[in-house]
Amino acid sequence: MLSFRSAPPLDPGTLLFSISVLALLMAAMAFSSMRTLPDLRFGLREWGKAMLAAGGAFLLFFFRGHAPWFLGFVVANLLVMLVPVYGLLAHARLMSRQVSRRLLWGIYGFGVSGVAVSYGLGTSTAVAVVTLSSAIALLFLATAVLVLSHARQHRNGAVFVAGLVMAAMAAGFLMRAVLSLFGQAEAVSPGAPSRPQIGVLLMGALFVVGASIGFFSMVHERQRQEVLDRARRDGLTGLFTRMAFMDMGRALEQARPPVHFAVAMIDLDHFKLVNDTHGHAAGDVVLAHVARLIANTVRSTDLVGRYGGEEFCVLLRDCSLGEASVFAARLVEAARHQAVRLPGGGEVAFTVSVGCAARRLLPQPEALMQTLARADKALYDAKHQGRDRWVAQALPSKT
Ligand code: GH3
Ligand code: MG
Ligand code: MG
Repeated sequence: MLSFRSAPPLDPGTLLFSISVLALLMAAMAFSSMRTLPDLRFGLREWGKAMLAAGGAFLLFFFRGHAPWFLGFVVANLLVMLVPVYGLLAHARLMSRQVSRRLLWGIYGFGVSGVAVSYGLGTSTAVAVVTLSSAIALLFLATAVLVLSHARQHRNGAVFVAGLVMAAMAAGFLMRAVLSLFGQAEAVSPGAPSRPQIGVLLMGALFVVGASIGFFSMVHERQRQEVLDRARRDGLTGLFTRMAFMDMGRALEQARPPVHFAVAMIDLDHFKLVNDTHGHAAGDVVLAHVARLIANTVRSTDLVGRYGGEEFCVLLRDCSLGEASVFAARLVEAARHQAVRLPGGGEVAFTVSVGCAARRLLPQPEALMQTLARADKALYDAKHQGRDRWVAQALPSKT
């Protein structure tokens, strides 16, 4: 008959071995997904290293007693201490946060110092368990804080679970440190069949799988964002493509209550001549320079797109025709006084022409395309009046 009271206990050896296999599998997953988008790795390499270290460490713990003490104790603990170090580095990289490497490796050094003392002096392992466990607890806590704040910001359930698992790991390791301080180091050694140790090992298994799933989920989300963002941007200038500009502009056009905005069309003057004189590559450098100039002249709420070859469009939010004219004048003036340094030496001077128009809200809010068409007409006028200037198109008079 099935009896829960006499259910066989979980044995630490099986758990150690299982954790090792799981960690090695997760490492393999991290390293293989690193290859799919090599320039969008976001800490996958570091996570792979963390899991590799965990796999190696737990395998050595498993073989403790069957392998030299140096391997089962010193090497295994050097490896296990790498897990939270690379875990924190991986999350920091993924979230574009800076972590002091010196502090991190300082904590690593503190963690493994007890291992050196215990091994060198041949004393009990208590010192090692205290330093290792407290250092690991600290790093897990820091990682949990990072992960939970990310989960809250992005409302990601898998990441929230990963953060909780990490916080629980920090608590588990703190408990190990405290138990060893009170003379219970043996009870929490890796292969000890004690309840606290079985608990820590179960949590370890949960961590390897749960934290990896959370991490992969975050990487996937960032990669998706990045790929989407890249598709919306022009490769040469980094500005929005015409399609992305129009999509975002149309969303504004349909906003209720209606949004007031002005648009500016900007075109490089005699750009064909720049290409003919200095070459197409030099032309590209000038285009990228002008794009930066425009992006630096607008506010963060404005939209800047590459409308065509050497033509740019700007949507200025909450902007009157007068304010748009100030923007246009500033841009024309700035361009006139700048020369672009070419990579191979030499300089290219350039000028721009700008046409601007403000959205008409009465009698009905004007469509973006109409405002753009009026700005384009103004640009055409600026070209005809001799270039290197701006023209603001007044609202059509009511007839
Ligand atoms: P205008 O003052 O009337 O605007 O004269 P323009 O020479 O600037 O105008 P035109 O339309 O005759 O020529 C535009 C040139 O822009 C021709 C084309 O080769 C160049 N161009 C378009 N896209 C690119 C690009 O991505 N890179 C480079 N280098 N040149 C480009
Ligand atoms: Mg031109
Ligand atoms: Mg043009």
